[in-house]
Amino acid sequence: MSIRPYRDIQRRKSRKIFVGNVPVGGDAPITVQTMTNTLTSDAQATIEQIRRCEEVGVDIVRVSCPDEESTKALKGIVRAVKVPIIADIHFHYKRAIEAAEAGAACLRINPGNIGSADRVREVVKAAKDHGCSMRIGVNAGSLEKHLLEKYGEPCPEAMVESALDHARILEDHDFREFKISVKASDVFLAVAAYQGLAEACDYPLHIGVTEAGGQRIGTVKSSIGLGMLLWSGIGDTLRVSLSAPPEEEVKVGFDMLKSMNLRHRGVNVISCPSCARQNFDVIKTVEVLEQRLAHITTPMTLSVIGCVVNGPGEARETDIGFTGGGKNTHQVYLAGQPAHRLQNEDIVAHLVKLVEDRARQIEADKIKHSEDAADAAS
Ligand code: SF4
Repeated sequence: MSIRPYRDIQRRKSRKIFVGNVPVGGDAPITVQTMTNTLTSDAQATIEQIRRCEEVGVDIVRVSCPDEESTKALKGIVRAVKVPIIADIHFHYKRAIEAAEAGAACLRINPGNIGSADRVREVVKAAKDHGCSMRIGVNAGSLEKHLLEKYGEPCPEAMVESALDHARILEDHDFREFKISVKASDVFLAVAAYQGLAEACDYPLHIGVTEAGGQRIGTVKSSIGLGMLLWSGIGDTLRVSLSAPPEEEVKVGFDMLKSMNLRHRGVNVISCPSCARQNFDVIKTVEVLEQRLAHITTPMTLSVIGCVVNGPGEARETDIGFTGGGKNTHQVYLAGQPAHRLQNEDIVAHLVKLVEDRARQIEADKIKHSEDAADAAS
């Protein structure tokens, strides 16, 4: 029993598959994905975009393969980047085979959409031969005609049925290395479809609210939809769909997981909104701090609070705390304890240095801990 059961999330038990070397499902950490928006045939631009996403921690990247030029470029892209690549295929089974041959770690393809059983067999064979997993991606906007006729409109039941129909085709080919998504731009529909699917199978689920909109509204919609799912334990990998650069999607995805204690990466900044009581410019300070701390990957917490109303309390719970004090005497806390005072002009540089030092310390402790464990085992 955890000491704070109100924070516990019981994850749905799902099968574990692999996207390249990245596990998805089972006890694997929930992974963050995005998708490139460069022309895949422009390998250099695509590689550069993927690298920017890698810098902010992306686990898996998807690229569209609409034509042969794209699958040709895929080989070089896969070799040049560190993260596994998912090839996004619609309808053209040959692109799927080419993508598997080019080194894609996973194929996003709906087997019911590619035509004859022979074609499905060829795609499954290519996936097996090249160690690719797959993602079945059902979208409320492109449901099969017979399901729309049966249900009258895109609804959760139709989406689940579509997903299970595609899944059955792969199962009939003795292929079970796949995950499923049932996305919709409507938050209610997406959530209900995922809840239904989570009940109906144990395949890992790729969750997302599709076409969620621009950065602000898309973040809000995704946080409501994905937050609801993650809180109830549903979701093994996620993409936040924003009309914004892919690296922004990755940052939002991580912030979401950080907020739910499901994944930790970098500095979790706790800051107050500021008010007339603030003893330094909280908003400006946090804005600059977030930029200056973007390179830190070690998980830790930093509280930046404008005054003593909430500052000491928040600082008690964080690795590094900062509370604005009257007459330019701000208080710094380390590991929850008051450590020293600070003048106005030093704030950002001082906190950046403290965070960097603490990150080095945490990493050194981690290495020592694993060396000690190795010694004890030998
Ligand atoms: S912590 Fe202080 S400065 Fe920040 S919002 Fe609350 S009262 Fe205002």
